[in-house]
Amino acid sequence: MAILIDGKEIAADVRKEVRHEVAAWTSEGHAPPYLAVVLVGDNPASASYVRGKIKASQNVGIAGDTLKFDENISEKALLEVIHDLNTSPHVSGILVQLPLPDHLDASRVISALNPDKDVDGLHTVNAGRLAAGLPGFVPCTPAGIVELLRRANIDIEGKHAVIIGRSSLVGRPLGSLLLRKENNATVTICHSRTQNLPEVCCQSDILVAAIGRAHFVTAEMVKPGAAVIDVGINRIDDLTRARGYRLTGDVDFEAVSKIAGYITPVPGGVGPMTIAMLLKNTMTAARLLN
Ligand code: NAP
Repeated sequence: MAILIDGKEIAADVRKEVRHEVAAWTSEGHAPPYLAVVLVGDNPASASYVRGKIKASQNVGIAGDTLKFDENISEKALLEVIHDLNTSPHVSGILVQLPLPDHLDASRVISALNPDKDVDGLHTVNAGRLAAGLPGFVPCTPAGIVELLRRANIDIEGKHAVIIGRSSLVGRPLGSLLLRKENNATVTICHSRTQNLPEVCCQSDILVAAIGRAHFVTAEMVKPGAAVIDVGINRIDDLTRARGYRLTGDVDFEAVSKIAGYITPVPGGVGPMTIAMLLKNTMTAARLLN
C-alpha cells in the first residue's frame, strides 16, 4: 500500500515557517508584506478562492486586500490599476485572479505586472527565468509539488519524472523546475497527442497527473513503487453528499494506491500547497522590494 503524502500537514508546516519569517521581518522594523488581489466580476468560485487567499495571508501576518472591479471594467482602466500597484512602494505582491471576463486579454494584463511583484509566477519574464534556470517567481502549484516531494523525502535527483499535461500553469513550469540543477530529474512531458501514454507513464519514478479528467491514471499506468502526484480537481456526481457532487483527482486512487510507493489524495494533497507557496512568494516579494 502506498504511503499517503499529507498535503494539508506539509502546507501547515510551510505556513508556520512563513509566519515566523514574517514575524522576524516585521521585528526588524519593516512593514508586513502586502498582497493585492485583483478580482474582476462576480464569479462565485473566483470570489471564494480569493477569500481563501486573503484569509491565509492574514493568518501568517501578511497584509492583504481584494480590489474588486465591475465585470465591465475596460482593459485600459484595469491596466492603470496594475500600473498603480506596480509603482506603489506598499504593495509587495500582485495577483490577478483568473479567469478574466472575455473582453479582457489575460495575457496582456499579466504582462503588465511588474515581474518582481508577480507572486503567481505567470509573467513571461518569470516563465523565461524558470526555463533558463534563473531565479524568479515560480507558479505556486508546481512550486508546491516540488516542496511536497522534498518534504516527503522522495528522491528526485536522477529520477524519471513523467508529467501528464503541458499547461503554462502546471505541466510546463513543473517540467522546468524538476530539470533545474537543484532537482536534477529527467523529465518527460506528455499531452493529448502523446503516443503510447501508458507505456511512457510506466517508466516513471515520479508520475504527475495534471489533466483535468477524473480517474484518468489507472493502475496499469504506474510503475510499482512510483510516487504519484495528483494535481487534478474534478467534480463528479455523488448523491450521498448534500451538495450532490464531490471532488476527485485525475488518478484512480483506490487502484493506484495498491501499486504506487507514495500517493497524494484529492482533496488534501497538492491543493493546500498552492496557497502555502503563494504566501512564501509574497514574503520573497517583500524582500525584493527593499
Ligand atoms: P489544462 O490547461 O486544461 O491542461 C490539461 C493538459 O492535459 C493539457 O496539456 C492536455 O493536452 C492534457 N490532456 C488532456 N487530455 C489528455 C489525454 N487524453 N492524454 C494526455 N494528456 C491529456 O489544465 P491545467 O490548468 O493544467 O489543470 C489540470 C488539472 O489540475 C485540472 O483538473 C485543474 O483543476 C487542476 N489544478 C489544480 C490545482 C491545485 O492547486 N491543486 C492548480 C491548478 C490546476 P493538450 O495540451 O494536448 O491539450
